[in-house]
Amino acid sequence: MKREDLHILSGAHVLDSLDDTEREALEGHLAGCEACARDVREFRETAARLAGAVSAAVPERLESEVMGRIEQVRQLPPLVSVGPEVSPFGRSSRRLVWMLAASIASAALLGGAAIVQYQAAAAAEREVARLQETADSVAAVPWPHSMRP
Ligand SMILES: [Zn+2]
Repeated sequence: MKREDLHILSGAHVLDSLDDTEREALEGHLAGCEACARDVREFRETAARLAGAVSAAVPERLESEVMGRIEQVRQLPPLVSVGPEVSPFGRSSRRLVWMLAASIASAALLGGAAIVQYQAAAAAEREVARLQETADSVAAVPWPHSMRP
Protein backbone atom coordinates (compact mmCIF):
# COMPACT_ATOMS: atom_id res chain seq x y z
CA MET A 1 0.00 0.00 0.00
CA LYS A 2 1.43 3.37 -1.01
CA ARG A 3 2.07 6.09 1.58
CA GLU A 4 -0.37 8.41 -0.24
CA ASP A 5 -3.10 5.80 0.16
CA LEU A 6 -2.50 5.58 3.90
CA HIS A 7 -3.13 9.31 4.35
CA ILE A 8 -6.81 8.91 3.50
CA LEU A 9 -7.57 6.03 5.85
CA SER A 10 -7.66 7.99 9.12
CA GLY A 11 -11.41 8.52 9.16
CA ALA A 12 -12.18 4.91 8.31
CA HIS A 13 -9.71 3.78 10.98
CA VAL A 14 -11.50 5.80 13.66
CA LEU A 15 -14.80 4.23 12.63
CA ASP A 16 -13.19 0.75 12.76
CA SER A 17 -13.87 0.21 9.08
CA LEU A 18 -10.48 -1.05 7.95
CA ASP A 19 -9.55 -4.63 7.28
CA ASP A 20 -6.64 -6.11 9.21
CA THR A 21 -4.06 -5.37 6.50
CA GLU A 22 -5.13 -1.74 6.18
CA ARG A 23 -5.28 -1.26 9.96
CA GLU A 24 -1.77 -2.66 10.47
CA ALA A 25 -0.37 -0.54 7.65
CA LEU A 26 -2.06 2.60 8.99
CA GLU A 27 -0.97 2.00 12.57
CA GLY A 28 2.61 1.69 11.37
CA HIS A 29 2.17 4.85 9.34
CA LEU A 30 0.74 6.85 12.26
CA ALA A 31 3.98 6.58 14.20
CA GLY A 32 5.77 8.61 11.52
CA CYS A 33 3.07 10.89 10.14
CA GLU A 34 2.00 13.70 12.46
CA ALA A 35 -0.72 14.88 10.03
CA CYS A 36 -2.48 11.52 10.04
CA ALA A 37 -1.97 11.09 13.82
CA ARG A 38 -3.60 14.50 14.33
CA ASP A 39 -6.43 13.52 11.97
CA VAL A 40 -7.07 10.36 13.99
CA ARG A 41 -7.16 12.33 17.27
CA GLU A 42 -9.51 14.91 15.81
CA PHE A 43 -11.76 12.31 14.15
CA ARG A 44 -12.00 10.47 17.48
CA GLU A 45 -13.01 13.68 19.25
CA THR A 46 -15.58 14.39 16.56
CA ALA A 47 -16.94 10.84 16.66
CA ALA A 48 -17.27 11.10 20.46
CA ARG A 49 -19.17 14.39 20.13
CA LEU A 50 -21.42 12.96 17.46
CA ALA A 51 -22.16 9.94 19.62
CA GLY A 52 -23.49 12.25 22.30
CA ALA A 53 -25.48 14.44 19.95
CA VAL A 54 -29.22 14.26 19.61
CA SER A 55 -30.21 12.20 16.61
CA ALA A 56 -32.89 12.99 14.10
CA ALA A 57 -34.58 10.84 11.53
CA VAL A 58 -32.83 10.98 8.18
CA PRO A 59 -34.97 11.01 5.08
CA GLU A 60 -34.85 7.58 3.47
CA ARG A 61 -33.74 8.79 0.08
CA LEU A 62 -30.80 10.76 1.60
CA GLU A 63 -28.82 7.67 2.48
CA SER A 64 -29.30 6.14 -0.94
CA GLU A 65 -28.31 9.44 -2.61
CA VAL A 66 -25.18 9.76 -0.49
CA MET A 67 -24.20 6.16 -1.06
CA GLY A 68 -24.84 6.58 -4.78
CA ARG A 69 -22.66 9.67 -5.02
CA ILE A 70 -19.91 8.60 -2.65
CA GLU A 71 -18.26 6.50 -5.33
CA GLN A 72 -18.05 9.50 -7.63
CA VAL A 73 -16.22 11.79 -5.19
CA ARG A 74 -12.51 11.44 -4.84
CA GLN A 75 -11.18 11.96 -1.33
CA LEU A 76 -8.14 14.20 -1.11
CA PRO A 77 -5.18 13.26 1.05
CA PRO A 78 -4.28 15.63 3.91
CA LEU A 79 -1.64 18.26 3.37
CA VAL A 80 1.65 16.99 4.75
CA SER A 81 5.15 18.36 4.61
CA VAL A 82 7.12 16.95 1.72
CA GLY A 83 10.46 16.64 3.41
CA PRO A 84 12.77 18.16 5.95
CA GLU A 85 12.72 21.88 6.60
CA VAL A 86 14.35 23.84 3.81
CA SER A 87 16.41 25.64 6.38
CA PRO A 88 18.66 23.65 8.69
CA PHE A 89 17.79 26.13 11.43
CA GLY A 90 14.02 25.49 11.33
CA ARG A 91 11.49 27.99 12.68
CA SER A 92 13.96 30.40 14.20
CA SER A 93 15.54 30.78 10.78
CA ARG A 94 12.16 31.56 9.20
CA ARG A 95 11.48 34.12 11.91
CA LEU A 96 14.89 35.63 11.23
CA VAL A 97 14.11 35.83 7.52
CA TRP A 98 10.83 37.64 8.28
CA MET A 99 12.59 40.06 10.60
CA LEU A 100 15.26 40.68 7.96
CA ALA A 101 12.60 41.28 5.31
CA ALA A 102 10.80 43.71 7.64
CA SER A 103 14.07 45.51 8.32
CA ILE A 104 14.85 45.81 4.63
CA ALA A 105 11.35 47.10 3.93
CA SER A 106 11.67 49.67 6.74
CA ALA A 107 15.08 50.77 5.50
CA ALA A 108 13.73 51.15 1.96
CA LEU A 109 10.78 53.18 3.24
CA LEU A 110 12.95 55.47 5.34
CA GLY A 111 15.45 55.79 2.49
CA GLY A 112 12.65 56.74 0.11
CA ALA A 113 11.36 59.35 2.57
CA ALA A 114 14.87 60.79 2.97
CA ILE A 115 15.29 61.05 -0.81
CA VAL A 116 11.93 62.81 -1.18
CA GLN A 117 12.82 65.28 1.59
CA TYR A 118 16.26 65.91 0.08
CA GLN A 119 14.69 66.63 -3.32
CA ALA A 120 12.14 68.98 -1.74
CA ALA A 121 14.92 70.85 0.11
CA ALA A 122 16.99 71.15 -3.08
CA ALA A 123 13.94 72.50 -4.98
CA ALA A 124 13.31 75.03 -2.18
CA GLU A 125 16.96 76.16 -2.33
CA ARG A 126 16.70 76.64 -6.11
CA GLU A 127 13.50 78.65 -5.67
CA VAL A 128 15.15 80.85 -3.02
CA ALA A 129 18.13 81.43 -5.33
CA ARG A 130 15.79 82.33 -8.22
CA LEU A 131 13.80 84.75 -6.04
CA GLN A 132 17.03 86.30 -4.76
CA GLU A 133 18.18 86.89 -8.38
CA THR A 134 14.82 88.50 -9.14
CA ALA A 135 15.04 90.68 -6.04
CA ASP A 136 18.63 91.66 -6.93
CA SER A 137 17.67 92.56 -10.49
CA VAL A 138 14.73 94.66 -9.23
CA ALA A 139 16.99 96.37 -6.72
CA ALA A 140 19.48 97.13 -9.49
CA VAL A 141 16.93 99.23 -11.41
CA PRO A 142 17.84 102.91 -10.81
CA TRP A 143 15.20 105.01 -9.13
CA PRO A 144 13.84 107.91 -11.21
CA HIS A 145 15.01 111.29 -9.86
CA SER A 146 11.51 112.25 -8.87
CA MET A 147 11.01 109.10 -6.78
CA ARG A 148 14.41 108.85 -5.06
CA PRO A 149 14.10 108.43 -1.35
ZN1 LIG B 1 -0.04 10.33 6.78
